[in-house]
Amino acid sequence: MNIVILSRNANLYSTDRLVEEGENRGHKIEIIDPLKCDIIIEKEKPTIYYKDRYLDYVDAIIPRIGASITFYGCAVVRQFEMMNVFTTASSEAILRSRDKLKSLQRLSKAGIGMPKTVFTNYSRDVEEVIEHVGGVPVIIKLLEGTQGLGVVLAESKNAAESVLEAFNGLEARVIVQEFIKEAKGADLRALVVDGQVVGAMKRQGKEGEFRSNLHRGGNAQIIKLSAAELSVAMKASQALKLPVCGVDMLQSDRGPLLLEVNSSPGLEGIENATGKNIAKSIINYIERNTKK
Ligand code: ADP
Repeated sequence: MNIVILSRNANLYSTDRLVEEGENRGHKIEIIDPLKCDIIIEKEKPTIYYKDRYLDYVDAIIPRIGASITFYGCAVVRQFEMMNVFTTASSEAILRSRDKLKSLQRLSKAGIGMPKTVFTNYSRDVEEVIEHVGGVPVIIKLLEGTQGLGVVLAESKNAAESVLEAFNGLEARVIVQEFIKEAKGADLRALVVDGQVVGAMKRQGKEGEFRSNLHRGGNAQIIKLSAAELSVAMKASQALKLPVCGVDMLQSDRGPLLLEVNSSPGLEGIENATGKNIAKSIINYIERNTKK
């Protein structure tokens, strides 16, 4: 089978592992930079031109589209969809998952628990917004943030007010969220492939840090998820129509609370923490869904 990994960077752990496992299974794996693809649109003959050739021989794609190239990356994924190429993440689902607000709205409708969240257009009523989420401390999050950047813990009303004012001044859109203290700076990441959880880890932020992101110096350990946690991960994957995804949750006194769903989950942290061969699970998932 001809499998294309859509990625800007051929030297990432995740890309390497997918190439390795794909080749182990006898497939031809190519890494293609979506920004170097030309999308050619004409009546009934959608194609993609890359370097000096047409990508008309591809059986499946694995999109690994970074947040900064969402628009163009998703246009390329959509073009492959028009060409009836199997994808591990649809362009629609990637786009939806990039919008934290849209995702949370859908996930709440699907009956998934989450920290109480407020989205507001103006910051004059800070007191009310804070009351909505149960009082200070509150978490303030940039809607476009990743890797824990743009996630702020405001301990007092004054702090919350200043942060909201600052973000407002920059015309940055934010959500205000109930702070889940009992999570103690840790979160859970469940890796879902084909709608099933294939590995899970608990990430703990470094001393004094409420954010558990590995990029912020956190560490990760394998964990066995509870039935409720497994259910949140699978429901989230279903609700956002992302059969392959990373689901982040907080452990709270009222059960697991969903934080976000990642459509291009990194494999390094989770494979190292769990010892599981997640890359192989993804390749097997493709094999089950393509005819060749
Ligand atoms: P990003 O997408 O930038 O990683 P997250 O929403 O995942 O943003 O937040 C980063 C980290 O901050 C989380 O992994 C978690 O440890 C912590 N965190 C986020 N929201 C909350 C919250 N409501 N209560 C407690 N901790 C939180």
